[in-house]
Amino acid sequence: MLTPEAIALFEKQQYRIVGSHSGVKVCGWTKNMIKGMGGCYKLKFYGIMSHQCLQMTTSFSCSNRCIFCWRDYKAPTSKEWKWAIDDPEFILEGSLHAQKKLLEGFKGNEKANPQAYKQSQDVKNVALSLNGEPIQYPKINELIDLFHERKISTFLVTNSQHDKEIKNLKEITQLYLSVDAPNKELLKEIDRPLNSDYWERFNNSLDYMAKKKGRTAMRITMIKTLNDIEPENYANFIKRSDVDFVEVKGYMHVGASQGRLNRDCMPDHSEVINFAKTISPFLENYELIAEHKPSRVVLFAKKSFKKEGIWNTWIDFDKFFDEVKNNSVNKITHSKPTPEKLLGFTENENKRVEGRSSYLIENDKETGFKHICETGDETNLE
Ligand code: SF4
Repeated sequence: MLTPEAIALFEKQQYRIVGSHSGVKVCGWTKNMIKGMGGCYKLKFYGIMSHQCLQMTTSFSCSNRCIFCWRDYKAPTSKEWKWAIDDPEFILEGSLHAQKKLLEGFKGNEKANPQAYKQSQDVKNVALSLNGEPIQYPKINELIDLFHERKISTFLVTNSQHDKEIKNLKEITQLYLSVDAPNKELLKEIDRPLNSDYWERFNNSLDYMAKKKGRTAMRITMIKTLNDIEPENYANFIKRSDVDFVEVKGYMHVGASQGRLNRDCMPDHSEVINFAKTISPFLENYELIAEHKPSRVVLFAKKSFKKEGIWNTWIDFDKFFDEVKNNSVNKITHSKPTPEKLLGFTENENKRVEGRSSYLIENDKETGFKHICETGDETNLE
C-alpha cells in the first residue's frame, strides 16, 4: 500500500508503520495527559482516558480526497481494497508495541507525571481514525474482537462512502460517521469522493447507522463560509441516521489543507457554537450540552441519554464488555452519568482556557485522577 518514499515521510512525521497497511501515531492529547496538561474532548464527553488511548489506522488508503484533510493528495487512495491482508493479531500486537516504543521518552522525563506514564502502558481505548479509511480493512471485525477480548474499547471514524462495511461492522464502542456537507453538490466539492455513486452510498450509510445497537456519533466539520449553511439539511441527516451524539467541530487550518483553504475558513469557538445553534431548532430530540474549547467542538446528545434529569454520556466500560460477551450490546444500559462539571458552556466563548480552569472528577477510583483540565498544568493524580 505504501511506497518506500511514503513510509519514510510518515516515519519522519512520527508515525510507526505496522505491517504493510497499518500505522500508529501518538495523539497530542495522550502526550498532554501524561504531562499533566489536560485531556481530549472524548474524555470530557465520554470518559475516554486520553493517556491510555492508542491512535492508529488499519488502512492508509482512503476513498475520498477531502479538501479540509491535512493529508497530502499523494497519500494512497482507492475505492476498494487491493492489497495483501495482514493478520489482525499481528496488527494488534504490533500497534501496542509501537505505541509503547513511541512513549518510551516519557520514562523518567521530568515533564511527565510518573503515574500517568505508568498507566499509559495499559491501553484502554483504540481510536481507529488516524489516517485513511480503517473500515476498509477486510478483517476489521476480527480485529475489533481482539480489542474487546483485551478490554480495549473501540472508537472508529468512517467517511460516508462505505455503506456495506458499516452494515457488516460488529457492534463497537462508538461508531462515527463524518458528514461534511449539507447537500449532494457540496459533498462532491468538499469530499472529492472516488465513487461515482457517492450520494447513494452517503444515504445508505445514514440508514445503516440507524440500525446499530452500539453508540453512534456524527462528526460535522464546520468549514467557515463553505459548509456552514442549510442547517435543516444537517438536521435531516442526523434524524435519518438516528445517531446518539453529534459533534460539531471547527476545521483546523493545518497540514496540506493550508494549500487548499484559506485561514479564514477556520472558525473560532463562538462561530462553531453559533453554527450548532442554527441546527438546534430542527432537532427536538437532542440538546446542545457541552463544549471543549481547545478542540473547538460542541456536543449534541440525544435526550434518551438523560435519565431522571441526569445526562449519561459517559461509558460504563465494564458493562459494555459484559454486553459484548453476552451479545447484548445496548447503548443506553452501558452508559453512566457524565460528571456535572463537564457539562455546559462558559460565558466568554473565545476566552482561552487558562491553567487553573480545571474540572473535577470526584472520587474516580478507577483512574486515580482528581482533576482533569483542558489545558494547563492541573492534572493531578492521587
Ligand atoms: S480519543 Fe482521539 S483525541 Fe482523544 S486521546 Fe484518543 S486519539 Fe487523541
